[in-house]
Amino acid sequence: MSALDTNIEKLAGHLARFKASGIKNRVAGEDRDGSGGVFQTTSPVDKSVICDVAHGTAADIDTAAQAAHDAFPAWRDMPATERRRILLNVAEAIEARAEEIALCECWDTGQTWRFMSKAALRGAENFRFFADQVVQARDGQHLKSPTLMNITTRVPLGPVGVITPWNTPFMLSTWKIAPALAAGCTVVHKPAEDSPLTARLLVEIAEEAGLPPGVLNTVNGFGPDAGKALCEHPKLKAIAFVGESATGSKIVKQGADTHKRNHLELGGKNPVIVFDDADLDRALDAVIFMIYSINGERCTSSSRLLVQDTIKDEFEAKLIERVNNIKVGHPLDPATEIGPLVTEEHYNKVTSYFDLAKEDGATVAAGGEKVGDKGYFIRPTLFTNANNDMRIAREEIFGPVLTSIPFLTAEEALSIANDTEYGLTGYVWTNDLTRALWMTERMEAGMIWVNSENVRHLPTPFGGAKASGIGRDGGDWSFEFYMEQKHIGFATGQHKIMQLGKG
Ligand code: NAD
Repeated sequence: MSALDTNIEKLAGHLARFKASGIKNRVAGEDRDGSGGVFQTTSPVDKSVICDVAHGTAADIDTAAQAAHDAFPAWRDMPATERRRILLNVAEAIEARAEEIALCECWDTGQTWRFMSKAALRGAENFRFFADQVVQARDGQHLKSPTLMNITTRVPLGPVGVITPWNTPFMLSTWKIAPALAAGCTVVHKPAEDSPLTARLLVEIAEEAGLPPGVLNTVNGFGPDAGKALCEHPKLKAIAFVGESATGSKIVKQGADTHKRNHLELGGKNPVIVFDDADLDRALDAVIFMIYSINGERCTSSSRLLVQDTIKDEFEAKLIERVNNIKVGHPLDPATEIGPLVTEEHYNKVTSYFDLAKEDGATVAAGGEKVGDKGYFIRPTLFTNANNDMRIAREEIFGPVLTSIPFLTAEEALSIANDTEYGLTGYVWTNDLTRALWMTERMEAGMIWVNSENVRHLPTPFGGAKASGIGRDGGDWSFEFYMEQKHIGFATGQHKIMQLGKG
């Protein structure tokens, strides 16, 4: 039996229960139907219906917010070491079911087995990292003035909402939920409507590992009703959101009346700048990896290649050869490098740029084609003869589509790199240290790598500038968001009380 057939057989075993009884919402440790009935999730591999999903609406969000509110005092007051123990158990339980998580997510989203078999384990790492972080984190400082002992401490914010997108949904959900729980918050999670399977697995795994009922609640539903209700709910103190920049603006507006604290991780149109003194073979590998892995459905992807004029022809020729050899196929085949795009809507959006690019005068140097009609497959695509004013260079396509733009000088590269509404990541390839420092200081992005692809190190700050987001995750930055700073001043005895009308 081939590795693909083995994976398909295992997947069928895992999906049987979802096919039989659908995906329910999970509130206060119980399965709940959605008050909006059900909707269906389909697979982008063959467009087949996977299962029914409880359609949560504002009423279900209200019940879940109440459950998170009720569970909060006990979770907040639990010793950090005990919270750590439970979260480490969750990490272990994720590892034990990593294969199931990966198979389900590949089928639900089209991501490849090659990627997901590692990304499921990243979910466990997120829990392990933040579990350890909470017992090491600074929880206060004491600053003594002559007559006051000033204590600055941090307390968990309260119940919070987490809204996640369909791209790498399991990893991103754990990236948001693990620090919230570690900080002592309780959570209502609204996963993306297009990828509900692994959010269900996460809440069930967490409860089986000892997370008390109501500490994590999952309500499936759509943005304009369930998502909006989450932002507007008065019992929820904050919204951690990952998704499109336009939706991020709505999150802020919807939460304004209840004074929500918002953390926004949004879109990107990230530049990778290749100078002619760079190690071009390594740069080529990184460029290919950063735009075509995860089907190009990656916020940090390097979707604009800025290549120095002196090496443009050579670099593009090598790129075209490599792109034409990328293997598109069934996501559960370990040899597949690109699977199908997540939904019909997204497939239509991404493929619309094939014509838009030509209309704007760019050349389709590789790809630019749909593959079959069974699922949402396309060839990885490279546009050349492009400039930064074209729609392919300005808009977030969010697929395996790269636009190559030439530049002459570092000044010009910098100007093109920053000429975008976004500011998530940037990548610089050069062996000139001074130039690398000059560029990284001036590039408008939250995260920049020099002579490297995007390598995540959990203690470092992750987040975007401009329309790519507000706030940072990772290390102590996550706790800054999920905790409230509190100042307490203790008079030490000699403190002179101010007298009304005197002095
Ligand atoms: P999306 O904004 O369409 O949806 C994200 C989530 O928001 C979904 O759960 C959706 O139901 C919900 N939502 C939609 N409208 C809402 C509303 N009015 N109120 C509340 N919730 C609402 O994004 P998507 O298409 O699912 O995801 C892709 C986007 O996410 C891309 O732009 C990508 O760059 C971005 N992203 C950013 C990061 C990052 O770290 N910066 C990471 C991953 C994805």
